[in-house]
Amino acid sequence: MVREEEEESRSDEGVFYALDLGGTNFLVLRVQLGGKAGGIVHQEFTEASIPPALMGGTSDALFNYIAEKLANFVAAEEEQKFHQPPRRQRELGFTFSFPVMQTSINSGTLIRWTKGFSISDAVGQDVVAELTKALQRKGVEMRVAALVNDTIGTLAGGRYTNKDVAVAVAVAVAVILGTGTNAAYVERAQAIPKWHGPVPKSGEMVINMEWGNFRSLHLPLMEYDHAMDVESLNPGEQISEEAAFFGDEVHAKLKISFILRTPDMSAMHHDTSSDLRVVGQKLKDVLEISNTSLKKRRIVVKLCNIVTARGARLAAAGVLGILKKMGRDSLKDPQKTVVAMDGGLYEHYAEYRGCLENTLRELVGEETASSIVVEHSNDGSGIGAALLTASHSTSKINLEN
Ligand code: BGC
Repeated sequence: MVREEEEESRSDEGVFYALDLGGTNFLVLRVQLGGKAGGIVHQEFTEASIPPALMGGTSDALFNYIAEKLANFVAAEEEQKFHQPPRRQRELGFTFSFPVMQTSINSGTLIRWTKGFSISDAVGQDVVAELTKALQRKGVEMRVAALVNDTIGTLAGGRYTNKDVAVAVAVAVAVILGTGTNAAYVERAQAIPKWHGPVPKSGEMVINMEWGNFRSLHLPLMEYDHAMDVESLNPGEQISEEAAFFGDEVHAKLKISFILRTPDMSAMHHDTSSDLRVVGQKLKDVLEISNTSLKKRRIVVKLCNIVTARGARLAAAGVLGILKKMGRDSLKDPQKTVVAMDGGLYEHYAEYRGCLENTLRELVGEETASSIVVEHSNDGSGIGAALLTASHSTSKINLEN
């Protein structure tokens, strides 16, 4: 096989693994890619939650736990279901959705934790090396071939899984709106002042913006933002993704950070009953505030609306910023642009999603809006990591067979 052909099949075919760690849950995935035209032939996954104690413990404890779950997944291996033999050395794409200083396709040091994690001995460490050591401790033979952020995985997944080729190539932006928030987009390499390396053949590179860390320099902050920031795990950082909204009150439960989860707020916001009984029930169950009047419950719904609209409009402004930077915000460039979105907030909170999409339409104008498609990319980040692993695979067993 000549080298170029080998590269082609290497990038599309075989069984690959992905590990997606981005919040309190993580996902282990096995995907069989069927070559150029075959797409995803088969996939299986398992999900597990990270015990809260491990989110504030040691690096070894966290990675041991993850490696063990991965070992179980591999051991209970149902690779016979896959139509190709496993590679001699299994390969894994690691979606690690925290700020990282990426040093190569499969190495990067953790800059800081976000989303409730606080494991100080992992900061400054190469997270791929930490995972690899844990895999060795658990006797799992697996090479970590790619380290990716969830935004990058979503972008790659969006391009690969989209059946419509015209739409697939137009996927140029990926946004995550969940426990954390972030965006990535495709940029012309020459427009990146920090990049002094070789220009890739395509002339393009993907930028992971880490926009959750945009701060007052870029965005106006209110006194409530400052009050929440001071009490957060990482004051001064990730200011665009702090989530509590009631502030202090007499009720003890209201003083517990993050007590009101997004699904609770969403359920209250979408309560269509005339007496707002879902709101009443949630206030009682979650915050132990009983016997609220209808008037109070109406105010709660208004609050949900204010907070949601602010968050959604800020996210839409972020997307507009990317489109402007790419020159895709006006009809002068009628090229279709697909924004791949994922994250629980976007997926499960209809009012939020609607407000974001309406705001974007309002910002770019009706005419341009028709060339911008916002698409939900379901769990694309794990698939994307498997794809990037495929394109950086060193294993040859499938090619030799
Ligand atoms: C992290 C990003 C990630 C985002 C969405 C943020 O807290 O810093 O790397 O992409 O959450 O998961």
